[in-house]
Amino acid sequence: MTVSRNLSARKRIALVAHDNKKGDLLEWAEFNKSVLARHELIATGTTGKLLEEKLDRPVKKLLSGPLGGDQQIGAMIATGEIDVLIFFWDPMEAQPHDPDVKALLRLAVVWNIPAASNRTSSDFLMTSPLMHQVYEAIVPDYSSYVKRKL
Ligand code: PGA
Repeated sequence: MTVSRNLSARKRIALVAHDNKKGDLLEWAEFNKSVLARHELIATGTTGKLLEEKLDRPVKKLLSGPLGGDQQIGAMIATGEIDVLIFFWDPMEAQPHDPDVKALLRLAVVWNIPAASNRTSSDFLMTSPLMHQVYEAIVPDYSSYVKRKL
């Protein structure tokens, strides 16, 4: 049996950027301001504060990434509270919260949500017509894993 969930036309977009990528994300967000205006934005603490200033609109701010913000976003993905992940992670520098970064990227795959890690893929996501319509996303079937005999 295939399980699915409807992503509404107004998406809940999580945004995270590592320090060396914050400039990139802010520039990208400003460029995509009108598209982003049609969606709800959620972000890790510092990224969220900077986005609010840049876009002059409210952003739901979680804890700062290294203080648990990445894990909060991961938990929201697992419970179906995030529809899209834009995560500009830094490929050139180790992070104090590397395990959390890995966990967040993993959960985006576990729950089959659209995720982008750089500007180009984020542009492709934002220009998809699916961003602005209801989309029936397949929820991977983990029932046999949950019911496994131990
Ligand atoms: P920050 O967290 O937005 O609070 O800086 C981002 C991150 O995960 O490093």
